[in-house]
Amino acid sequence: MDTESMTDSTGMDMGSGIQRELDPLENAHIQFEEAAARLKLDPAILQIIKQPRRATIVKLPVHMDDGSFRVFTGYRVQHSIVRGPAKGGIRYHPDVTLEEVTALAAWMTWKCAVVGIPFGGGKGGISCDPTTLSKTELERLTRRYVADLIDVFGPERDVPAPDVNTNEQTMAWIMDTYSMHARHTVTSVVTGKPLLIGGSAGRREATGRGVLFCVREAAKRIGLALDKATVVIQGFGNVGSVAADLLAKDGAKIIAVSDVGGGIHLPSGLDIPALQKHVAEHRTVAGFPGAEPIDGKKLLEIPCDVLIPAALENQITQANAGRINARIVAEGANGPTTTPADKILNKNGVLVVPDILANSGGVTVSYFEWVQDRQGLFWREDEVNSRLEQIMVDAFHDVANMADEHKVSFRVAAFMLAIKRVVDVIMLRGVYA
Ligand code: GLU
Repeated sequence: MDTESMTDSTGMDMGSGIQRELDPLENAHIQFEEAAARLKLDPAILQIIKQPRRATIVKLPVHMDDGSFRVFTGYRVQHSIVRGPAKGGIRYHPDVTLEEVTALAAWMTWKCAVVGIPFGGGKGGISCDPTTLSKTELERLTRRYVADLIDVFGPERDVPAPDVNTNEQTMAWIMDTYSMHARHTVTSVVTGKPLLIGGSAGRREATGRGVLFCVREAAKRIGLALDKATVVIQGFGNVGSVAADLLAKDGAKIIAVSDVGGGIHLPSGLDIPALQKHVAEHRTVAGFPGAEPIDGKKLLEIPCDVLIPAALENQITQANAGRINARIVAEGANGPTTTPADKILNKNGVLVVPDILANSGGVTVSYFEWVQDRQGLFWREDEVNSRLEQIMVDAFHDVANMADEHKVSFRVAAFMLAIKRVVDVIMLRGVYA
């Protein structure tokens, strides 16, 4: 946070009354403070969960394919291990910073608590542009990162998973590196692995499927028929493309999608299986035959029933929130809406299903993967999906009940529920001081 600026703790400019845009860590703090204040909890207890319990920064020298070597910076933040091992993905992106990873780690704590799975929260990242690295460079970078953090990770300590720009292959390298150091195969140290090495059926689709379950419940709440609904999706990666496919199967019309390569708009509805084929070939949605190109920012403002930001943080800001023309916003990404923008959406009557609920399907099936690895007994995909549905629908209604009872937004309600669940465990365990 820029401590020099003349703003109060909510980012309000003292002089003009205009709020500046907040970064993810500031948003995470405000979300926490706002919900915690309503719970009237002991401020001393809150100190325990306000800050991350451990943050590690590692410098990672990596041999490049041309014989030179470069030093990358990696992070792993464990926000909380109160409810179980730290849990959360690893992202590879040029914008990764300690602050960003810290915010994402805190959101993982609240996300795991909202769905009631026995994990704390963590997140990792490496500041790099993976599009400029070869597969062998990415493998060496990943292995060095895991080797340097070998005492931080572990099935009972901290369990990583995929996040932005990491995938099943990255998880396979993590599992292998950890296992080489442990001198035996340890599948449960990481989730989101390929099926062949202890991955779970349904994990790849889980985040998008969880978004579908939330959108279904949100639609029922506002009396929207999904088979008549229009949907706009920002991001066509693991989350956005699966959500698009499943929502289309429910009869919804996906009228616009975007990715880093550009956006496309087709008011009569996109053929999602054909679009997935196009993306497999061209690596972007851009250029999809029959659809109009549209600017990625403008796409968010297309009138629709359901808007799904499924890319990065800070996409819905004060600058565009007033022009969002959707009835439901389901946050497939982590932190896509800034706090001031969230207030504008709420004022305009948009039902925002917050990230810590809407995208919790991924970590929920990660939990199933961890359980299956530890049992050595694997479940069928329909079993995974139906357990996921039960957990997500229950979590949605827990949040909705909290929102109704306290007359707060779904985001505040989800944070209240999560913070209370973590604090209840602290009270039972006691503080070892
Ligand atoms: N990176 C995903 C998230 O933000 C998944 C985390 C996990 O499965 O541990 O929820």
